Amino acid sequence: MTSTQSSVTTLHHWANGQKVDGKSGRFSDVTNPATGEVTASLPLASAEEAAEVIAAATAAFPAWRDTSLAKRTRILFTFRELLDARAPELAAIITAEHGKVLSDAAGEVARGQEVVEFACGAPHLLKGSATENASTGVDVSSIRQPLGVVGIISPFNFPAMVPMWFFPVAIAAGNTVVLKPSEKVPTAALWIAELWREAGLPDGVFNVLNGDKTAVDALLTSPDVKSISFVGSTPIARYVYETGTAHGKRVQALGGAKNHMVVLPDADLDLAADQAINAGFGSAGERCMAISALVAVGDIADELVSRIKDRAVALRTGDGTRGCDMGPLVTAAARDRVSGYIDAGEAAGATLVVDGRQGTYDADGSGFFVGPTLFDNVGTDMSIYTDEIFGPVLAVVRVDTFEQAVGLVNANPYGNGTAIFTNDGGAARRFQNEVEVGMIGINVPVPVPMAYYSFGGWKNSLFGDTHAHGTEGVHFFTRGKVVTTRWLDPSHGGINLGFPQNN
Ligand code: NAD
Repeated sequence: MTSTQSSVTTLHHWANGQKVDGKSGRFSDVTNPATGEVTASLPLASAEEAAEVIAAATAAFPAWRDTSLAKRTRILFTFRELLDARAPELAAIITAEHGKVLSDAAGEVARGQEVVEFACGAPHLLKGSATENASTGVDVSSIRQPLGVVGIISPFNFPAMVPMWFFPVAIAAGNTVVLKPSEKVPTAALWIAELWREAGLPDGVFNVLNGDKTAVDALLTSPDVKSISFVGSTPIARYVYETGTAHGKRVQALGGAKNHMVVLPDADLDLAADQAINAGFGSAGERCMAISALVAVGDIADELVSRIKDRAVALRTGDGTRGCDMGPLVTAAARDRVSGYIDAGEAAGATLVVDGRQGTYDADGSGFFVGPTLFDNVGTDMSIYTDEIFGPVLAVVRVDTFEQAVGLVNANPYGNGTAIFTNDGGAARRFQNEVEVGMIGINVPVPVPMAYYSFGGWKNSLFGDTHAHGTEGVHFFTRGKVVTTRWLDPSHGGINLGFPQNN
C-alpha cells in the first residue's frame, strides 16, 4: 500500500465481551479513503484464532437461549436507546473508513436501527401456535427455537447496516453471533460490540472475528456454526453458499447487482433525473441497490440525459466530513477499477457525457476519487453495461418500447432491485408483475424494504431461499419443533401397531 501513515491504531478481535489481540502475525491496512492515509492495522485471524472466537460464542449459547424473552428484549431496548443517542459517533466511523458522506452514513445507521426496533418485538415474533383436540384428547403445538452460533459475513459498503440486517433478529431469537466484518471497514463492528456490552448483553453472545478468507472458511466449516448470513459480491456469495451448505449449514448469501431504472415517456422527467442522480451517485455508486443502468424508453432520452447531465456536473465530490454530495471510492484499487471501466466504455463507443476521471475534489491528501460519470448510447454488450462496476458510473441505454425495457431487466443475470418511473398505473402494475427481481420501486429509485419486510434479490443476487430481516429473518434464525401431547384421555385405544390415525 502506498498511502502515507499518520497515527495508526492496532485493532483486535472481540470475544467473551472483551478485546482479543491478534496472534497470527498477519495484518491488513485500514485507510481513510478521503485522504489516502492508513489509520489502522487490522489483525487477520488464523484458523486457530477463529476457533477461539467461535468457542466463546458456543459457550455463551446455552445460557442465552434460556434467558427469558423479557430479559432479552430489555437488553435490545437498551441497545436501541444507546445506538440512537450515539448514532453520530458510528456515522463518523463509517465515513472515516468507507468514505461515504456523513449524512449518508447517518442514514445507514438509521436504517440499521430500524431492524433493532423490529427485533424488540421478539416476544410477538417468536410466538408459536397451538391446536386443542387435534385428535380426541390430543393437542399439538409448534415452537421455534434458536439455532446456536450463527455466522455473519459482511461487505465493505455498509459497515453497520448490513450486519444489523441480521444480528438484532439473531440475538433476539436466542442465538449467539460471530460477525466477520469486511477487512476494509472493521471499526464499526468493534464499536457495536462495545455498545452491546454497555447495553448489558452477556459476554460471548456477540463476537467479532476479523480476517479474510481464512476466517470465512473457518466459519463455513466449523461444526459449531449453524448458519451463515453472507452479503458481498456474487462469486464469493456463490462460494459461501456452496461451501456452507456442503457443511450442513443453512445459508443465505446475498450477492452483487446491476439495477435498472426504466423511465417511460410519460414520466415526470425532473423527478426521474433527480432520482437517477441520487440512486446512481449516492455513496459513490457503492450500494447494492444503486442504479447503474438507466433504460430510457421512447423519445425522451435526449431530454432526460440533458437534465441528468446538468445535475451531475453540479455535484460536489470530496471528503465526506465536509458537506460534499459524494465521497471517494473505498480503496485505490476500487478507484482504478472504476476508471478502467470508464476507459473501456469510451473505447467501446458509448457517448461519454460527463467524465468522472476529470475533476477537482474538496479533500486533503490523496483520496480515492472518481467523479460522477454519465454515459449515453450504451450497448448491451459493453462492459459498462454487463458488469457490476460499483462506482459512480451511470449508463443510459435507449430502447423503443416497454417490452424491450422489461426484456433487458429480465435478461440480466442479477435480480436485486429495479425501478420504473411513470405516471401510468397500468404500466407500473405490469412491470411489478413481470420483472424477475426481488425488490421493485415505482417512482422510487432505491426500493430498500422496511425492517418489517424482507430484503433480498433474485437470481445471482441471492443464493439460498431466505431474505434478510422481517419474518423471513425470524424464520432463518430459528428452527421449528412440533409437540404432540396427550394428558387426560384414558381411552387411548390400547395396543395398536397400525399407523396412528386421528379421530
Ligand atoms: P466481497 O465479496 O469482496 O467481500 C464480502 C465479504 O467476503 C468480506 O467480509 C470479505 O472479507 C469476504 N471475502 C472476500 N473474498 C473472499 C474469499 N475469496 N473467500 C472468502 N471470503 C471472502 O464484497 P465487497 O467488495 O466487500 O462488497 C461489495 C459487493 O457486495 C458488491 O458486489 C455488492 O453488490 C455486494 N452487496 C450486496 C448486497 C445485497 O444485499 N445483495 C448488499 C451490499 C453489498
